[in-house]
Amino acid sequence: MQVHKYDVVIVGAGGAGMRAAIESGQRAHTAVLTKLYPTRSHTGAAQGGMCAALANVEEDNWEWHTFDTIKGGDYLVDQDAAEIMAKEAIDAVLDLEKMGLPFNRTPEGKIDQRRFGGHTRDHGKAPVRRACYAADRTGHMILQTLYQNCVKHNVEFYNEYYALDLLTVEEEATREDGSTYLQKRVAGVVSYDLATGELHVFQAKSVVFASGGAGKVFKTTSNAHTLTGDGMGIAFRRGIPLEDMEFVQFHPTGLAGLGILLSEAARGEGGILRNSEGERFMERYAPTIKDLAPRDIVARSMANEVREGRGCGPDKDYVLLDLTHLEPAHIDAKLPDITEFARTYLGVEPYTEPVPVFPTAHYVMGGVPTNIQGEVHQDNDHTIPGLYAAGEVACVSVHGSNRLGTNSLLDINVFGKRAGTYAAEYAKTADFVDLPENPLVETQALLDNVRQADGTERIAAIRKDLQDTMDANMQVFRTGDTIKKAVKDIEGLRERYANISIQDKGKRFNLDLLEAVELGFLLDLAEVMSVSALGREESRGGHFREDFPDRDDERFMKHSMVYKDETAEMQGIKGLRFDTKPVTFTRYQPMERKY
Ligand SMILES: Cc1cc2nc3c(=O)[nH]c(=O)nc-3n(C[C@H](O)[C@H](O)[C@H](O)COP(=O)(O)OP(=O)(O)OC[C@H]3O[C@@H](n4cnc5c(N)ncnc54)[C@H](O)[C@@H]3O)c2cc1C
Repeated sequence: MQVHKYDVVIVGAGGAGMRAAIESGQRAHTAVLTKLYPTRSHTGAAQGGMCAALANVEEDNWEWHTFDTIKGGDYLVDQDAAEIMAKEAIDAVLDLEKMGLPFNRTPEGKIDQRRFGGHTRDHGKAPVRRACYAADRTGHMILQTLYQNCVKHNVEFYNEYYALDLLTVEEEATREDGSTYLQKRVAGVVSYDLATGELHVFQAKSVVFASGGAGKVFKTTSNAHTLTGDGMGIAFRRGIPLEDMEFVQFHPTGLAGLGILLSEAARGEGGILRNSEGERFMERYAPTIKDLAPRDIVARSMANEVREGRGCGPDKDYVLLDLTHLEPAHIDAKLPDITEFARTYLGVEPYTEPVPVFPTAHYVMGGVPTNIQGEVHQDNDHTIPGLYAAGEVACVSVHGSNRLGTNSLLDINVFGKRAGTYAAEYAKTADFVDLPENPLVETQALLDNVRQADGTERIAAIRKDLQDTMDANMQVFRTGDTIKKAVKDIEGLRERYANISIQDKGKRFNLDLLEAVELGFLLDLAEVMSVSALGREESRGGHFREDFPDRDDERFMKHSMVYKDETAEMQGIKGLRFDTKPVTFTRYQPMERKY
C-alpha cells in the first residue's frame, strides 16, 4: 500500500482548491489531488466576472452587496456568511491583482467594473457596476494566476489523481451536559492514480474538499463533463449531510438546444431578451431592473414566455438575446469569447442577429455544510475536526436558494482562502489520526465490483436517461408529480446500475471505470436533490413548485439537511434521513422579493 503523509491535503485544483493551497502551502506541508490537470478545472470556463464593492466606477459599499446577496438568495442565506463574503470581497480582488491578474481597467487605470443580475445600488434602486472582469475570460485568468502562485509557493500537485473515499474514524465524545455522541475525525483520503490504476492513501491532519459542482446531473447544462459531484458524493456516503440540495440554478442564457453558456455579462453590457413578438418581456416581470433581475426570476420568465406561446424558432422553444444595438467594437472588447460561441455553435452573427437562448443547469447552491471557517459539519451541532470544504462543493450558505452572478468566483476566493488558512492552522496543532485498519477495503471493493461486473447495461445509456428525467422533471418548473416521476425513474436507474459492465478492464488510463464510479455519485446526488425538492412544499429562489407557487416562511424558512442512514426513510425512499437547520439572521428580515 502506498501511503503519503501531508499536513494538509486539498482535493480539487479549481479556484477554491488553489486559493486554499496558496494559504496552506505557506504554512504547512500541503498536497493538492486533482482529477483534472489544474488549469483545466471548470473555474477556467467562468466568463463574466467576480464582484466586490470597490466603488471604482460608481458609489457602492459592502452593505449593499450583502443585502443583494441575501435578497437574491430569497432569504435562505446565512447572513453572517454573506456579510463576511461581501466585506472580504475587496481584499479578495486586490489579492488577485497583486498576484498578477490582468483585470480590465478604466481609463484612469482602476479595475473596471460592470453590471450583473441582482447587484444593485442602495437596496434595489437600480443596477450597480460591481463585477470586476477580464473581458469574458475572468475565470481563465483567475485559474492561471492562482496556479502560477501555487507553483511559486511550492505546492505539490498530484494531477489525474481521483479522490474516491474519505477516511474517517469515530470516537466517543462527551457534550457539556454529560451526554455522549460519536465524533468523526479525519484520517485522510483514498485516491486513484489514473495513469497506473493504483490506489494511494493520503494521510493528513487536515483535508479540504474543493471538488466543485454536480451540473452533470442534468442534460442541458453549462457544466463540463467532469462536474459529477464526487466530493459531495464521497462525503454523503461517509455519513456527512448534504444541505439545500433542491436548489439548483438554471442560468437564463444557455445557447438554445446546447446549454453552452453565454455569460450574463452580455446583459450586463446592455443585451436584451426578447420574445417572438420582439417584446422586451422582462419589463413585465421585473420592472425596475428588467433583464438584470436575479437568474431564477429571468429563467422562469423565459420559460413562461415559451409556455405561453411567445417562444421563437420553428418549435417556439427558445427566446432571443439581442446584442444588435451594441457597437461591434464594444462587443469585441467586452464579450469576445461568447459571441464566438454563438457563431461557432449556432451559426448566428451577434452583431446583426439575435442569439437563440434558453435556461441551462448551471450551479448547485447546496452542498457539504460548513461554517464560516470552512469547517465541515457532521450534524447541526458538531463539526469534524480537520475536515474543510470550500467552493461549489460546499454550502456555507452564502447563496441561499439562488446565487447571484459573480458571487461564485468571489465565494471560491474568500472561502477558499479561509479554508486553506484554517486547515493549515489546525494541522499545526493537531496530531495525525491513525488510519483505519484496512483503509482501501471499501474503495477496492467498489472498483472490483465495476471491473468484474458482467451485466448488460451501459454507463452512457444510464447517464443519458438520468439526465433526461432530471431535465424533464426537475428543471425550472417542478410539481409534486414531476418530482415523484424523477424519484421513481432514479430508483429504476439504480437497478440498472447494478447490472452494468464496462468494456475496458485494464489498469492504465481507465476512464471507462471512472465514469462508472462518477455515475454512482450522480445517481446519489440526483436522488438527494429530488427527494429534498419533494419535501419543500413552497417556491423559493431556484426551486419553483407550481403546486406551491408561494414562498412559505412559516413552514420552510430553514435549510434542508439530508443524511445517508440505512435505518431511516424519507419520502418513501429507504436509506435517507431528513432534518433541517435554522437560517442565520443578522440584520435583514425577510421581505417580499420584488425587482
Ligand atoms: C461556463 C461557466 C461560467 C461561469 N461563469 C461564472 C462567472 O462569470 N462568475 C462567477 O462568479 N461564477 C461563474 N461560474 C461558476 C463558477 O465558475 C464555479 O462555481 C466555480 O468556479 C467553482 O470553483 P471550484 O473551485 O469550487 O470548482 P472547479 O473549478 O469546478 O474545480 C473542481 C476541481 O476539483 C477536482 N475534482 C473533482 N472531483 C475530484 C475527485 N474525485 N478527485 C480529485 N479531484 C477532483 C477537479 O479536478 C477540479 O480541479 C461559471 C460556471 C460555468 C460552468
